[in-house]
Amino acid sequence: MSEPSSSGAGTVHVLVVGGGIGGLSAAYALARQGLRVRVLEQASEFGEVGAGLQIAPNGTRILHEYGLLDEVKANGVLPASMVMRDAVDGTELTRLDLRDLARRYGAPYVVIHRSDLHAIFLRACRDLGVDLRTEQRVTSYENTANGARVTLADGRVEEAEVVVAADGLHSVARQWLVRDEPVNSAYVAYRGAIPIAEVDREVNLDEVSVHIGPRCHFVRYGLRGGEILNQVAVFESPKALAGDENWGTPDELDAAFLATCDEVQAGIPLMWRDRWWRMFDRDPIMTWVDGRIALLGDAAHPPLQYLAQGAVMAIEDGWVLAQHVARSRQTGGVDWDGALSAYQNVRPEHCRRVVFTARSWGKLWHLDGLPRRQRNVILRARDADDMSFIDWLYGPTALVPGDEPPMFEPIPLDSVGIELSQTSSRSSR
Ligand SMILES: Cc1cc2nc3c(=O)[nH]c(=O)nc-3n(C[C@H](O)[C@H](O)[C@H](O)COP(=O)(O)OP(=O)(O)OC[C@H]3O[C@@H](n4cnc5c(N)ncnc54)[C@H](O)[C@@H]3O)c2cc1C
Repeated sequence: MSEPSSSGAGTVHVLVVGGGIGGLSAAYALARQGLRVRVLEQASEFGEVGAGLQIAPNGTRILHEYGLLDEVKANGVLPASMVMRDAVDGTELTRLDLRDLARRYGAPYVVIHRSDLHAIFLRACRDLGVDLRTEQRVTSYENTANGARVTLADGRVEEAEVVVAADGLHSVARQWLVRDEPVNSAYVAYRGAIPIAEVDREVNLDEVSVHIGPRCHFVRYGLRGGEILNQVAVFESPKALAGDENWGTPDELDAAFLATCDEVQAGIPLMWRDRWWRMFDRDPIMTWVDGRIALLGDAAHPPLQYLAQGAVMAIEDGWVLAQHVARSRQTGGVDWDGALSAYQNVRPEHCRRVVFTARSWGKLWHLDGLPRRQRNVILRARDADDMSFIDWLYGPTALVPGDEPPMFEPIPLDSVGIELSQTSSRSSR
C-alpha cells in the first residue's frame, strides 16, 4: 500500500494527489528542490493505461533539465518527420522536419509509450525519496491555518504545507474549487499498440503520420525503438450526437472510416476493440489556486488531444511551480503564497490558449466539403520550413506572463476562394 520512504521523519511539505504523469512529474520537480513530497494515488498500483505519447520540445526541454531525456530517448523513438495527409484521398498536405524542429527549439520531438514515461518518472521519484502511496482515494480538500489537508475515503486525514491536486479530468479538487463539468466533444479515440512483427505491411516508422478527414482522423507512429506500431483512430460518434449513452462502440469505428483511403483502412483492424476513450475537455478556468491548494495537469486544463500537449502541459506545470519554489526560498522554508501566486499568474493563460487552440485544430482537421478543400489548399501552400505557427507552443516555457509568446494568427479558410477554383480537381478527390 505504501512504499518505504527515504525522506525521513518530519512534516511532509507537499502532498500530491494523483500519480499520473502530471502528479509524478510535479512530485519529482518539487523533490528536486529538497522538499519532502508524498504522492497519494487512488489505484492499487502506479501505472498508465493507453498507448503512445508525443512529447514536443517544450516537454523534452524540461526532461533534459531533469536529466531524464536520455532515458526517454532510449525507450522511445525520435521520428524524422511529421506528415499530414488527407484521410480521404491519401495525398500529402504538409510536413514538418522534426530534426530541423529539434535544432530550432533546442530539444527533440520524442514519441514514447506512456507507461514507459510514467515508469521513468516513478523511478526518478523513488530515487529522490518521494513517499509513494497507493490505495489513497482523496474525497475532500480544506485549507488550514498553516497549509492544507485532504480527507481520504477511509476517513484518514493527511496534512501538508501545500496540496497539489493532479487528479485528472474528473478531479475532486476541481469540483471543490469551481463545480464545472467536463465538456463532451462527441469524439472517441480507439488506440492500438502492437508489435511491428505482427503487422503484415510496410509502415514507415520514421514518421509521425496524421491522416485528417471528415469527422475523423488517424495517427500512426512507432514506439520502443520501432518495435511497436502505435495507432490512434478518432471519430465523431453519431450515437453521442443522438444522445445515446452507449456511444463510441466498435460498429461506429468501422462506419466512421469507410470513406477513407486504403492506408487508413488497413490500420483499422489493428485497433484494440475492447476499450475506447470518449473525449472530453473542460472550459478553461483562470483560477487554479485556493489558499494552499493548487490544481495541476488535467485537473486544471484537460484538453482535447489534437495538439498532443496534455501531458506536456502537466510536465510544464510542475516545472514552473518548482522554479517558483526555488525563487521563493526564505529562511525557514518556502514562501508558498509567493510561489503559488507566481504559478497562478502564468500557467492558466498559457493553458487556456492550448485548450482553445486544440478545439480549433480539431475542427480544422475534421472539416468536410468546401471548407475541407480550402483547408487543404492552405496546408499545401505552407512552406515546409515555416514553423511560425508553433513558436508559441514549442518555445521555452514562460515563468512570468511577460515571457508568454504571442499567439499564431490562423489563416482564414475563406482567404483561399480564388485558389480553390484553380485547385479543386486536386483537393476535392
Ligand atoms: C487519445 C489520447 C491521446 C493523447 N496523446 C497525447 C500526446 O501525444 N501528448 C500529450 O502530451 N498528451 C496526450 N494526451 C493527454 C494526456 O494523456 C493527459 O493530458 C495526461 O496524461 C494527464 O495527466 P494527469 O497526470 O494530469 O492526469 P491523469 O493521467 O488522469 O492522472 C490522474 C491520476 O490521479 C488519480 N486520481 C484521480 N482521482 C483521485 C483521487 N480522488 N484520489 C487519489 N488519486 C486520484 C488517478 O487514478 C490517476 O492516476 C492524450 C490523451 C488522449 C485521450
